[in-house]
Amino acid sequence: MATAPASSLDAYRAEADRFIAALDEEYYLHYAGHKEGFELEPIYERFAELTTMEACRRLGERAEAGGAGELELWHFACEGYLGNLTRAEAEEIAGLEASLTATVDGEEIPYRMLRPAIANEADRGRRDRLEAARVELAEEHLAPRWTALAEKRREGTHALGVPTYRELYERFGFPLEELAGQCRELLAETEDLYVAAFGSLLRRRSGVPLEEARRSDVPRVFRASEWDEGFPADRMVPALEWTLDGLGIDLHAQENVRLDIEARPSKSPRAFCAPIEVPGRIMLVIKPIGGPDDWHAFFHEAGHAEHFAHVSPELPVEFRRLGDNSVTEGWAMLLEHLVNDPAWLSRRLDFARPEQFAEEASVGLLYLVRRYAGKLLYELELHGDVELEPMRARYVEWLREATKIEPSPADFLADVDVGFYSSCYLRAWAMHAQLRSFLREEFGSAWFTRPEAGSLLRELWGEGQRLTAAELLGEVAGARLELGAVGERIREEVSV
Ligand SMILES: [Zn+2]
Repeated sequence: MATAPASSLDAYRAEADRFIAALDEEYYLHYAGHKEGFELEPIYERFAELTTMEACRRLGERAEAGGAGELELWHFACEGYLGNLTRAEAEEIAGLEASLTATVDGEEIPYRMLRPAIANEADRGRRDRLEAARVELAEEHLAPRWTALAEKRREGTHALGVPTYRELYERFGFPLEELAGQCRELLAETEDLYVAAFGSLLRRRSGVPLEEARRSDVPRVFRASEWDEGFPADRMVPALEWTLDGLGIDLHAQENVRLDIEARPSKSPRAFCAPIEVPGRIMLVIKPIGGPDDWHAFFHEAGHAEHFAHVSPELPVEFRRLGDNSVTEGWAMLLEHLVNDPAWLSRRLDFARPEQFAEEASVGLLYLVRRYAGKLLYELELHGDVELEPMRARYVEWLREATKIEPSPADFLADVDVGFYSSCYLRAWAMHAQLRSFLREEFGSAWFTRPEAGSLLRELWGEGQRLTAAELLGEVAGARLELGAVGERIREEVSV
């Protein structure tokens, strides 16, 4: 077998590290509002050699002969190759989404504002008209582009020498078959709980029972303004400070974590983390607005930031920046879900009814996890050896089965996570539920106030993504990663 010498693999690692740093820096500058343009093209051009078909072929050979690190580098090259191949379609879709408008009740509304408008609209009839307008634009303008993109991705997968996108990800080490079985079990085991608990929350928030609910009723469940005052904008950063302090981490003494809270006109309203150098320069960006969603997003991104900030600088790029993204998502969820934790909430003495908030958050999580379970089962079919068009009907069947609410066939290709990222979220939810149980057993329900818990977390964060979520959980808790743990955790908090 013809393989390049080790030194060329090290050169590849160094270049990959610079490529990702450049992308993250550009992302940071644009979304933090420092820079109007978002110039990715010159970066992709500068590093084009990393993701050519030839690079994929060479790394594929290395992966076959080598270990987990080589496999991650091959995964990285292939995703870059497929990303380049479909970039024109992706940009065309983004351009259309940014420029299309609908006229609803005589008012012109940009495409991207239709979903937020539905969430904020109390009048059910108008919500339906907004959703109908969204579906019409999606069907007419976006669907043909999504189809073109999906076809190109399939051609690219064949060119990489793998029959299906699903098989490609199985070769990357994604445990898709096992996870599919766990998704089916989760859907069966939580069905009654979901119908009762989500049904009752939906009725309370949008006034309709689950049997009569429509797609446009769902955002009302998640837009619960009654809780806004418990989550004020000016308390977000102090809440993160005391939370980390409890774990023995002084946010302001961390030289490699830059908290960007300045207001800038074009700064993204959504919190994000840009790990420009791992672990040397991690940006945690926020424009505090307040409300539970904003707190969740901020704590989630802070979880990513702390994870990357503690990664050992000795690790090679494939374990510092690449690897199993279920792991960094799991760490993000660990901090995000503190915001719903009754033990954490009750420490905020100003917060009334923590138990009720926690219960409602669990019901919302149940909807999300079931939706993702249905989505993954659908995506596994879609990315198998099947025709695209019949998958419209399968999308509707799977999502209806999971959520009991009729989805729109127009979204059958748009509502798909690139690179089976849906499986990362599902594994991250499981990792979070199981790690949280472990932390509570070891350190008590207020584990987040114990510096020993913080020491353990720092040690695990140091591993970057060298271990998969399943391996990490095995090492720490001696347990198998199980999606069923999410259902159990929800059942503990939800009374129906
Ligand atoms: Zn995340």
